[in-house]
Amino acid sequence: MVKEIKKSGKKYFECIECNFVYKNKKIAEECEGYCKKHHSCNTEITKYSIQV
Ligand SMILES: [Zn+2]
Repeated sequence: MVKEIKKSGKKYFECIECNFVYKNKKIAEECEGYCKKHHSCNTEITKYSIQV
């Protein structure tokens, strides 16, 4: 399960495997699925990560 982060009234989703944060829950879930399976990140997914 991705971790939900609340900051300044906005919601973000963190991949608990690699700690990248996304605005979009679906992308965070995709990242987590990939990370768990491959034990590394997919740059096609992590390019959507954001700084919080
Ligand atoms: Zn990840």
